[in-house]
Amino acid sequence: MEANTYDFIIVGAGSAGSVLANRLSASGDYRVLCLEAGTEGSNYIWSRIPIGVAKLIDNPAVNWCYSCEPDEGSGQRRIEVPRGKMLGGSSSINGMVFVRGQRQDYDHWAQLGNRGWSYQDVLPLFKMMESYEGGSDEFRGRDGLLKVTDSPQITPFFEKLIQSAEKIGIKRNPDYNGAEQEGIAMTQATINKGRRQSTAYCYLDPARGRPNLTIETGAMAASLILEGKRCVGVRYAVNGQAREARATRELIVSSGSINSPKLLELSGIGQPDLLREHGIEVRHELPGVGENLRDHYSPRMRFSITEKDATFNDKGRGWKLVREVMNYAISRKGFMAMSSVPIRMYFRTREGLDSPDATISVMPFLAERVNRERRIARQRGVTMNINVLRSDSRGSIHIKSTDPAEPPAINFNFLSSELDRTGVIIAMRKGRELMAASPVSDIVGEELAPGPAYQTDEELLEWVRNNAETTYHPVGTCKMGQDAMAVVDDQLRVHGIEGLRVADASIMPTLTSGNTNAPSIMIGEKCSVMVLAAAEGAKAKAAA
Ligand SMILES: Cc1cc2nc3c(=O)[nH]c(=O)nc-3n(C[C@H](O)[C@H](O)[C@H](O)COP(=O)(O)OP(=O)(O)OC[C@H]3O[C@@H](n4cnc5c(N)ncnc54)[C@H](O)[C@@H]3O)c2cc1C
Repeated sequence: MEANTYDFIIVGAGSAGSVLANRLSASGDYRVLCLEAGTEGSNYIWSRIPIGVAKLIDNPAVNWCYSCEPDEGSGQRRIEVPRGKMLGGSSSINGMVFVRGQRQDYDHWAQLGNRGWSYQDVLPLFKMMESYEGGSDEFRGRDGLLKVTDSPQITPFFEKLIQSAEKIGIKRNPDYNGAEQEGIAMTQATINKGRRQSTAYCYLDPARGRPNLTIETGAMAASLILEGKRCVGVRYAVNGQAREARATRELIVSSGSINSPKLLELSGIGQPDLLREHGIEVRHELPGVGENLRDHYSPRMRFSITEKDATFNDKGRGWKLVREVMNYAISRKGFMAMSSVPIRMYFRTREGLDSPDATISVMPFLAERVNRERRIARQRGVTMNINVLRSDSRGSIHIKSTDPAEPPAINFNFLSSELDRTGVIIAMRKGRELMAASPVSDIVGEELAPGPAYQTDEELLEWVRNNAETTYHPVGTCKMGQDAMAVVDDQLRVHGIEGLRVADASIMPTLTSGNTNAPSIMIGEKCSVMVLAAAEGAKAKAAA
């Protein structure tokens, strides 16, 4: 058994963990260990090319490839739950859509009692972390590590869709990450010069040469080492070999919404009955561990399109695909250089709301699955991801065994909230309204899914239950707060345990209004500030 000692240990090098690895090691004053269960990732060319998402989304070499337990809201199906398992975590396999969420999301977190998390508090972090050319200086950052760009309008289809949205009262929004989110816009993406901007690339690569930063890949954390109510290190395995590392200051769990609660439970932190059921000694009772799971449940509507070359279906096959490959190789442009979800609209499903509560993200192609392989279909068309933005249905994630390699039980409990059921139906009807408005209506063929046979609320809901997928945004399973079910406080310190924080999507008390990569990176930035402030404070105290 090797024992290594560091100032800080970070478990998981994903969206949040990579940020922490960079920031905590930047001054050179602290020794930092970052453990990542997955691979190095640099061999995976598909994680650098935007179109490569299709090759990553169910690839066990770089993806945990979880699936959920059957539940009523999903017609007892086991829906796939992909999660990145490589440096950069899910930011290395995700759809690259860049959305901060709404001002109200963070103000709500603050209202729940989380000091320092209001929009005014987190805006400087969002600005600091990004480099984006559009929008106004009041809201956008120009020289951060993360490059963000606008998806280009490479076919006239996009402008047609925007004009149709305007016809149904949805305005064009030049910056949905600016003053307000509402409207239709080309997606902002973590893509620069045709390359994915994962946190591995933007945060870890610039820090790798630092002598005080150790990054271990293939290093699977099995449990935390607790001495009384203090976390002092972690047990982990590399190639089956057991190791230990010690943290003299703090350990930060950044293993993501699925694996962070699992690691706490395997370490004896969680619901006493559940831990005892598995023969795990209860080290600290925290009933909220693994609860409050929220995600964006998403039906995918599909429409055929009659106009040639309007969608990516024509570009994605045969000699046109060869031309696209050449275009990408030479100029890093074309559909291979884009997010697969290049346009989206945010809108309200009912009057009286303060801000949008639903979004439709349009993928300008139809996809098909042949065995496990996903590819662009021959038929020309578009796919619409429908999301209620702040899903209210809540589920849980809990261990099924004491074996760290065993996936946990993921119970989403989708559509258990009335708000989610009504919201999704209204949003689907909005999708139909959009496609029936000109000019896009001139090139829409037929609604392929759910199809004209599905009209009543009951029929639509039944179709959603049997067909929806997640949008891959699980959050909330180690939620921040002050109530009995909170796992961390507003400094992200695990309630009742010293020297231990959680920093990743699991700490979100509620879902942000949109995709969750940008908020997870912000959480990594904010945690870094808090950890460094505590360390500097401790040093000053010791010196006094
Ligand atoms: C297919 C897909 C598409 C998505 N599309 C988008 C999108 O377009 N835009 C967007 O904003 N968001 C998107 N998301 C969501 C977004 O990427 C995530 O919310 C975000 O990356 C979560 O960050 P995190 O730090 O919480 O976890 P992760 O980035 O998942 O990082 C967790 C890390 O911890 C490691 N780890 C786990 N357990 C252990 C252990 N025991 N020991 C050591 N290491 C461990 C994991 O391997 C991983 O690297 C998508 C996600 C997926 C999976």
